[in-house]
Amino acid sequence: MTAELTFATTRREDPVPAAEREMILANPAFGTTFTDHMLTATWTKGEGWRDGQVRPFGPLQVSPAAAVLHYAQEVFEGMKAYRHADGSVWTFRPERNAARMARSCERLALPVLSEEDFIGAIRALVEVDQAWVPDSGTGESSLYLRPFMFASEAFLGVRPANEVTFSIIASPAGAYFPGGMKPVNLWLSTDYARAGAGGTGAAKCGGNYASSLAGQLEGIAQGCDQAVFLDSSTHTYIEELGGMNLFFVTKDGKLRTPALTGSILEGVTRASILDLAPDLGLEPEEARIGIDEWKDGVVSGEITEVFACGTAAVVTPVGELRWDGGSAPSTAGAEGGEVTRRIRQTLLDIQYGVAEDTHGWLTRL
Ligand code: PMP
Repeated sequence: MTAELTFATTRREDPVPAAEREMILANPAFGTTFTDHMLTATWTKGEGWRDGQVRPFGPLQVSPAAAVLHYAQEVFEGMKAYRHADGSVWTFRPERNAARMARSCERLALPVLSEEDFIGAIRALVEVDQAWVPDSGTGESSLYLRPFMFASEAFLGVRPANEVTFSIIASPAGAYFPGGMKPVNLWLSTDYARAGAGGTGAAKCGGNYASSLAGQLEGIAQGCDQAVFLDSSTHTYIEELGGMNLFFVTKDGKLRTPALTGSILEGVTRASILDLAPDLGLEPEEARIGIDEWKDGVVSGEITEVFACGTAAVVTPVGELRWDGGSAPSTAGAEGGEVTRRIRQTLLDIQYGVAEDTHGWLTRL
């Protein structure tokens, strides 16, 4: 597919003053502060994509009958722009986000945006808001980018919408662990599943996150940080967290992660860690992993480290696993295991241009 979209820019008349912006960038509160601009484009059946605009950040006008508000026909992506020491701005494997969004769109019966248009849109917004990409000097700060697409047609019938809106907003993000890495304790959700066979688990659609919240709340009530979900049919195999994939380091040097079953989201970070494993002397393995392997493995010493991964935190050490009636001990120590820390640093060094990008993962914006 070739590019269909061009973007007209209308600059905000009252941008956030530079001094105030610098204060925000020095200590950003994730997901609550947004850049001066946003991007929008519209798709209509028969006409395709049109009306690409970079315009002042502000409310969208949607009809209360917009299909997304009733039937959740919506998908999104999450990625980051990183500023290198020489001032240049880069993003990490955007073609993977474009491809995943295309797969999500197909599953949700939304129109597909080509890779060219997806990356072109990211570039158009970051170009106008480039002052909002924090300096690499401030640690692990970045500009989080949130592309999303939703059924904006005002129609209450249940069918794929004939009018769809694509948008990108951007939010400066600080270091995920400002005070050093801290393991997260996880709650094993056995009453709730995040996704089922034939469902939308492999798509990045809002509904999956709505359905993960009850399990998440249950975990928080038990003093955990996040919930782990199992396969919905047998409640035996480990799938993922509400917003991160899982990895297990074994004593014989394997780096294991649950195989993609159709109900797991294929993380860009997950794929990159599998690709990096041989560079780090580890053997990557995608497999069906039973929950008992986790419970027994951390006790027997077969599993030496457990970590979660995703764009936001990069890599997070996993501490204790708790469930109704029991718990499995942490192998993470106070700051995560050695392999967990090494993988995290390797990824960060590539993303921030500290290490050579030998895999060709960076795209300059
Ligand atoms: N699983 C789920 C359910 C997620 O929401 C995310 C975050 N996008 C991930 C895994 C990790 O994906 P990525 O590495 O692409 O951020």
